[in-house]
Amino acid sequence: MGSSSSLWRRRSALIAAVFALILQVRPCPAAQRVVLISVDGLRPDAIQAAGAATLLALIAGGSYHEAALNELPPATLPNHVTMLTGLPVAVHGVLQNTDLPGHVGEVTIFDVAAAAGLRCGFFASKSKLDFLAPLNPTAVVHIDSDQAALMDRVLEEFTADPFDLTFIHLREPDSTGHRSGWMSEEYLAAVRSSDAQIGRLMGLLTDLGFLETTDVLVTSDHGGEGFVHVLNTPAVREIPWIASGPSFAAGRNLCEPVVQPDTPATVLTLLGLAFPSDLPGHAVEEAFRDIEQPACQTERSVQGPPCMVFPLALAAGLGVVSAFGSSARRGRSNARWRRLPGRFRAWALRQRQSSGMPGPRRWRGADGPSSGARVARVPRSMRSSPRHLKVAAREAPAPGGGGSDGSGSESGGSDTVEPHVFSDFRHALRSC
Ligand SMILES: [Zn+2]
Repeated sequence: MGSSSSLWRRRSALIAAVFALILQVRPCPAAQRVVLISVDGLRPDAIQAAGAATLLALIAGGSYHEAALNELPPATLPNHVTMLTGLPVAVHGVLQNTDLPGHVGEVTIFDVAAAAGLRCGFFASKSKLDFLAPLNPTAVVHIDSDQAALMDRVLEEFTADPFDLTFIHLREPDSTGHRSGWMSEEYLAAVRSSDAQIGRLMGLLTDLGFLETTDVLVTSDHGGEGFVHVLNTPAVREIPWIASGPSFAAGRNLCEPVVQPDTPATVLTLLGLAFPSDLPGHAVEEAFRDIEQPACQTERSVQGPPCMVFPLALAAGLGVVSAFGSSARRGRSNARWRRLPGRFRAWALRQRQSSGMPGPRRWRGADGPSSGARVARVPRSMRSSPRHLKVAAREAPAPGGGGSDGSGSESGGSDTVEPHVFSDFRHALRSC
């Protein structure tokens, strides 16, 4: 724990310093609670097939995307790193799906929340996720392969001192899928088992009177077919995305694309914290209660051949490089979000475009240019964010005809000297 504490201290030094300065000037109102639940290996079509009562109730009372898209390779650890850092796999470089030594060398949503003084709980049912556990000594971290015992601990800790941000990982659907096959009777029973654990949590939130102040997100890392989850097919790539709580519209089916990096962006936005504008994720504003749902414009589906040649080649060829890179990054810098190099930003945009996804969404701010903006209202935490300005600037016709592929803006004058994340935090906090 000693090394973890020192790692946390190094990592949080700059973030905490910036927050301390800003919070002295303009304290934020109390943050809303967020619970993020990852049901490992949960296929969207299994929710109905299993008759998962709690999830069906959350869908009915909230907003739901039945086919959010995970990251390649569609494996547990790579997708959870994305889910908790906002970085695509191509950027965080964690291709391995095993217990890794040390701790992820990137800033997670727990780091950002803890730096803002929020209390975090991290409860996972696979030891490999310990790689992502919060380092803040005030956070509660618990790993238990028995998901019922895990939820016992969640309820106990939450009752004693409620968390602002809670992450819960439930493993049973994945474990049973590997053993008995996805969509088998045994698999569907495992889905019901995880559903029952989520039901226990919702019962506690009801008893504590927290339903009106707690947003609950339920999603997954991957689906599966047969006994594995390796192919680039809808059964493997598509994951459910359920958003229920006071911030979300009830009974809304989401149609705009939702990708794995959108989950951490949404979590931070709900907590009133800004998400680094360099990252490809966006808060899923289509789900927000106070935003009118736009007409569905895009079809989304899994693109590319149903094979794993590309991801397997990546895993084989880059696995070793990634291992060295991860350790190098751990040693070099843990104190800030890494800037996305121009080529990765361009890559992320190309991925969105090639898979039928829209480019960066444009925001209509109170003070910013808004040509072509289609969103009528902007969440509180985003109103003064420079994101809409940057995006608008990026998409405006450039003298050089740089277009909107992102590569042309990298060398433009909009880059700030300080890391973007600090700039975003400051703007978000000013808006409180
Ligand atoms: Zn998994």
